Amino acid sequence: MKYLLLLAVVLGMVWWIKLSRPASTDKSATPANPPQNMVRCAYCGLHLPDNEAVVSGNANYCSQAHSALADKST
Ligand SMILES: [Zn+2]
Repeated sequence: MKYLLLLAVVLGMVWWIKLSRPASTDKSATPANPPQNMVRCAYCGLHLPDNEAVVSGNANYCSQAHSALADKST
């Protein structure tokens, strides 16, 4: 009975260490949302991530439609 109680205490400590450790290391290792470069649509002024922008000439657009509309108006 004495050893069973000791085993329970040891298992409890191992479980507690496992629970408290990964939370602190994971946060610093992998940031959930890395900062993204934002660009502005030259037609409507909408801000969107750099990798989602439609690039036409030296201007960025939110969609292919706005890229075409801007081309027509100039
Ligand atoms: Zn737009």
